[in-house]
Amino acid sequence: MSQSVCILGVTGSIGQSTLKILEQHPDQYSVFAVSAYSRIDELAQICRQYQPKIAVVPADRVDQLSRHLKDLQLSHIQILSDEAGLIAVAKHPEVDVVMAAIVGAAGLLPTLSAVKAGKRVLLANKEALVMSGDIMMRAARDHHALLLPVDSEHNAIFQCLPHDYMNADAHGKPVKGVSRILLTASGGPFRQHSLQQLHEVTPQQACKHPNWSMGQKISVDSATLMNKGLELIEACHLFSIAEHFVTVVVHPESIIHSMVQYVDGSTLAQMGNPDMCTPIAHALAWPERIQTHVPALDLFAQQQLNFQEPDIVRFPALKLAREAMKAGGVAPAILNAANEVAVAAFLKEQIRFTHIAEIVEQTLNTVHNRSAEQLETILEADTQAREAAFDSIGKMRS
Ligand code: NAD
Ligand code: MG
Repeated sequence: MSQSVCILGVTGSIGQSTLKILEQHPDQYSVFAVSAYSRIDELAQICRQYQPKIAVVPADRVDQLSRHLKDLQLSHIQILSDEAGLIAVAKHPEVDVVMAAIVGAAGLLPTLSAVKAGKRVLLANKEALVMSGDIMMRAARDHHALLLPVDSEHNAIFQCLPHDYMNADAHGKPVKGVSRILLTASGGPFRQHSLQQLHEVTPQQACKHPNWSMGQKISVDSATLMNKGLELIEACHLFSIAEHFVTVVVHPESIIHSMVQYVDGSTLAQMGNPDMCTPIAHALAWPERIQTHVPALDLFAQQQLNFQEPDIVRFPALKLAREAMKAGGVAPAILNAANEVAVAAFLKEQIRFTHIAEIVEQTLNTVHNRSAEQLETILEADTQAREAAFDSIGKMRS
């Protein structure tokens, strides 16, 4: 039977890769709903090609989309708006699969709604899990949602873990013979830069990742290693594992997407060409496998695989994320919010690249940490952290 798919963030890098996979399997999947925040022209073209039943945009873009759809004779497509619209499609009874591919905290409530509605949720929006880890994981258990990792590292870990691991109650220590997770990182475009060179880098340079083509925010996060920090937190929640059982390994070729070590001395790695279509297809079809256009790995062409320890002096964001995970409570939400604000300021050339981690650190020291049991507390911490980060930026610029 055909699966009905909702793609939150369809115009983004992950959204586009998702469409590419669905297009290859028209008998297995249909697009029920899509959302976009900007690039409404592109959204209209997606509507023309995939004929969803519902499209979601910000309220002030409804008229623009409506005109486009009218011109394309697609006025039968329902338009919903804002967060309420995103939540409505995420939990819609006719939806089987939700691709959570909005970037940042904006994806939290829609993703959580999909989980609470017991959907198969393909999680790309790592910030949502970083903010609400325990709540999101508990909701997945309580509502029998299938929360499948799309982030390539977590998808790799999922593939290397015992098949029934997701259901294990780990108490922080890995179970079922697993001893450690090795989370790989490319090291980003500035892996070999000195601190002085890091101070000078431009947004354009930061957005040019050597191995992956991605949205702007995650590209900057990859360059600061905050992406790895967020992924460390993501891994702890997804696999109910304490942070000291997760080691970050810099692996510049991005061929191994992460590894799992076992007590008997085995290390299992998942490898492949760096293309998000592989983890997306895996999460879509699991436990089956479906075809993608991604070519098989050519090991004869890939002459060398290298591994290094991350340098937390030049890339302090990784250390800040680990500390936030250790501290628990709303610290990861504070870290995430401050980082979102700082990255946006860097992209607007208001601050330097090296200021991003500084602002995150200052914000973590300013906003007080507390328990993250209530969603309201997390959202409140997010708002306070944004205000504190804006303050720090203001002081830095004056
Ligand atoms: P992107 O910037 O290319 O796309 C983001 C999407 O979210 C767009 O469709 C945009 O319209 C929408 N969006 C942005 N702000 C919004 C808001 N305030 N409200 C509603 N919608 C909004 O980002 P991306 O690279 O596709 O990444 C999406 C998510 O997937 C991120 O959380 C990222 O960390 C994660 N991820 C991406 C990759 C990758 O290779 N691109 C890999 C792993 C994980
Ligand atoms: Mg990743």
